[in-house]
Amino acid sequence: MKKYHFNKRVLVTGGAGFLGSHLCEALLKSDCDVVCADNFFTGRRGNVAHLMDNPRFEILRHDVTFPLFVEVDEIYNLACPASPPHYQHDPVQTTKTSVLGAINMLGLAKRVKAKIFQASTSEVYGDPEIHPQPESYWGRVNPIGTRSCYDEGKRCAETLFFDYYRQNRVKIKVARIFNTYGPNMHPNDGRVVSNFIMQALRGEPITIYGTGQQTRSFCYVSDLIAGFLALMASPDEVTGPVNLGNPGEFTMLELAETVIKLTDSKSELIFKPLPADDPKQRQPNITIAKEKLGWEPKVPLEEGLKHTIKYFKQYV
Ligand code: NAD
Ligand code: UDP
Repeated sequence: MKKYHFNKRVLVTGGAGFLGSHLCEALLKSDCDVVCADNFFTGRRGNVAHLMDNPRFEILRHDVTFPLFVEVDEIYNLACPASPPHYQHDPVQTTKTSVLGAINMLGLAKRVKAKIFQASTSEVYGDPEIHPQPESYWGRVNPIGTRSCYDEGKRCAETLFFDYYRQNRVKIKVARIFNTYGPNMHPNDGRVVSNFIMQALRGEPITIYGTGQQTRSFCYVSDLIAGFLALMASPDEVTGPVNLGNPGEFTMLELAETVIKLTDSKSELIFKPLPADDPKQRQPNITIAKEKLGWEPKVPLEEGLKHTIKYFKQYV
C-alpha cells in the first residue's frame, strides 16, 4: 500500500510581525506547512509577502482574543505587540491578547493535541535585583504601572501554560525572550534599536531616555529563531521557562555610539525623560539554554547591526 508523507502543520500567531515573519520563513525551509494568524496590529503583510507564493504558506486575518479552529501539530504563540509605545497604545487589548490569547491557543493545543510554544519575555523579571537573570528569579514587577499590561499579561500567560501542562498534560515550551533586533522590525516600532538606526540614517538627533546608563542585551534575530526551533524540538520534559537572548550587555549610550559609527552619521545625542518603570539593567543567564538545547547566540552586535542598518536604509 502507498505510504503518504504529511508535512508537519504549524500555526504561528503574530506571524506577520518581526519575529513571526522570520519564524514562518524558517519553518517553511524545514518543510512544514505554515498557517500564519495575525490581526495586523503591528505586523505587516510586507513581512511575509515573499512567502505568499509558497503553496505551503497560508495567512489568516485573526485576533487571538477570539477562538480559532485549525488542525495543527504545533503552535507558536507570538501574537502580542512587543514595543512599549505599541503595547501601551491600547493596554486593555494588550492584556486581553496575552491572557485570552493564551487561553484560546492552549484550548486549541489541548483539543488537537498540539505542542505549544509561548513567546514570553524578560519583562517577567521587571526591574530586576538579581543580575544576570536566571529563570529561577521570580522578578520585580509593578502590577499597576504603564508597563504592567504587558509584563503582567505575559506573567499570567506563563501561569496558564503551566496550569494547562499540570492539569491537562498539554506539551508546553515557554521561552523568555530578551531584546531582539534585525530586519523586518517596523521602522516606527519605537524600540531602541530601530529608533537609533532610523535617527542616525536621517541625521536626526538620537533620543537617549534618562542618562543612557541603563543596559540591555541584544540578540540578533537569526540566533533567536534557531533557539525557538531548538526548544520546540527538545524532549517533552523540557518545558522551560528558558531564557533566550544574547548575554552581551550594553548601555544605551554605547549602543548609540556604535550605531553612529556604523552609519557614519553626524547625529547628535539628545536626552529625554526616562519612561516609567524602565528597567535599569537586563542580561540573560543562558546556562539552561546551553545545557538543555545546546544553543547559544553567534552573531556579535556590530555584525547584526550592519544587517539591520542595510534593511532600514529603504525607509529613509
Ligand atoms: P511585533 O509587534 O513585530 O509582532 C507581534 C505580532 O502580533 C504582530 O504581527 C501583530 O500584528 C500581532 N498581534 C498583536 N496582537 C494580536 C492579536 N490580538 N491577534 C493576532 N495577532 C496579534 O513584535 P515581535 O518583536 O515580533 O514580538 C513577537 C512576540 O515575541 C511577542 O509576543 C513579544 O511579546 C515577544 N517578545 C519579543 C521580544 C523582542 O525583542 N522582539 C522580546 C521579548 C518578547
Ligand atoms: N530607549 C532610548 N531611546 C529610544 C528608545 C528607547 O534610550 O529612542 C531606551 C529605553 O528607555 C530602554 C531601552 O532603550 O531603557 C530599551 O528600550 P526598548 O523600548 O527597546 O525595550 P525595553 O527593553 O525597554 O522593553
